[in-house]
Amino acid sequence: MTSKDSWRFLAICMLFFPMTLCFLQDQGRVLLVSFDGFRWDYIYKVPTPNFQYIIKNGVHIKQVTNVFITKTYPNHYTMVTGLYAESHGIVANEMYDPILNETFSMNHMTINNSKFWEDAYPIWIVNQMQGHRSGAAMWPGTDVKIHGLFPTHYMLYNESVSFQERISKLIEWFMSKEPINLGLLYWEQPDEMGHILGPENHRMRAVISDIDNKLGYLVSELKKANLWDTLNIIITSDHGMAQSSRDRIIELDLYVDRSLYRMIDHSPAVAILPEEGKFNEVYRALANAHPHMTVYKKEDIPRRLHYKQSNKIQPILAVADEGWEILQNKSDEFLCNHGYDNLLPEMHPILIAHGPAFAKNITKQAMNSTDLYPLLCHLLGINPLPSNGSLENVKDLLVSSVSEKLQYRAATYQQESYACFIGVFLGSTLVFVFLLVFIRHLIYNQIPVIGTQHAEIARPLLQA
Ligand SMILES: [Zn+2]
Repeated sequence: MTSKDSWRFLAICMLFFPMTLCFLQDQGRVLLVSFDGFRWDYIYKVPTPNFQYIIKNGVHIKQVTNVFITKTYPNHYTMVTGLYAESHGIVANEMYDPILNETFSMNHMTINNSKFWEDAYPIWIVNQMQGHRSGAAMWPGTDVKIHGLFPTHYMLYNESVSFQERISKLIEWFMSKEPINLGLLYWEQPDEMGHILGPENHRMRAVISDIDNKLGYLVSELKKANLWDTLNIIITSDHGMAQSSRDRIIELDLYVDRSLYRMIDHSPAVAILPEEGKFNEVYRALANAHPHMTVYKKEDIPRRLHYKQSNKIQPILAVADEGWEILQNKSDEFLCNHGYDNLLPEMHPILIAHGPAFAKNITKQAMNSTDLYPLLCHLLGINPLPSNGSLENVKDLLVSSVSEKLQYRAATYQQESYACFIGVFLGSTLVFVFLLVFIRHLIYNQIPVIGTQHAEIARPLLQA
């Protein structure tokens, strides 16, 4: 073998090394599921055998403190960034950015404005930047180009796409030749019916049962695809729901003329932008107007709410007590609602999880939704960006003993593709053969040289 041949051989071996490495790295896969508006205690209102099946074989957190304001977009972005709303910049479902002079509205479908999303990097982008693939079925923000990227696979938001279709897409992406390691699934219920009926309405029982059936369908489809035992699945939500009433309405028109301000975001945490020069007048009119409404100047919003360090938070914030609604006029339409203080249990979402990385039959009393992001990154084996959460806070949810960890690795590797195993086998064999041949080649070629060197060394230095 010539020296040129040796290098050629080395190059081929190096080609197989990445495949060898794919075996050595943790290949955790995660499916994160959000049932919008699924309050933490809904599972106790009606038999929920499929939720109970996961709880029995996985983990259950009883009280998840989500972030203020307890609305859909801020909380979905917190789950995938680990940041409070003031830091990730999606501070409400309805926003106005005075620097851009642009608005963002869930109701007017102007949510695709990338600029509103780019205060943070969501996990699907972080995952892709570290060499993996992500797939999203309608998760808020996943059909928006953020920092120049979409998820590897995603669906354009369309409420009429069925739950079955969303699952079928995700399974297809997990099973493809170039599989995703991160899947995100969003479903609009029980939030929509919770707004209409109210959480205490007996008709919510059927809505909750339907979600339980949907969860059962998801589990059975994952089992059919041989994904159930190897995939880490987290079932959660963005917020809970409170019961509103016609008897609990705060009418702003009684206290301040509506020509003096713009109402940017709506009840129960109302973002108020006073017209130029009218700040003091509007604030004074509202500050002590109603015993069930707390009115803050932006700079006085309590630190614990983590809700002031963003130019998209307006100069005045009026927050209703639980179950109260702030409207301009009592004739305005309203529904049951969420968005209240994040310390209120009624605002807290469900969180259960199952998979090879999770302990079995563990109940944890409390966690913060900001801790979900470092947990997700840990499960995926990727480096997290700085966040307001901590993996330390949720480590007790994970398998801890050596034998459990070995089982996790065994289960994870079982799903490695044939290509990877063939790559590992060929790579290792070629490296071994190469080393043998290379060493033999070196010894063979170097013997005369060594001989010459000996002769030179043996030559007396001063002979010349
Ligand atoms: Zn929601």
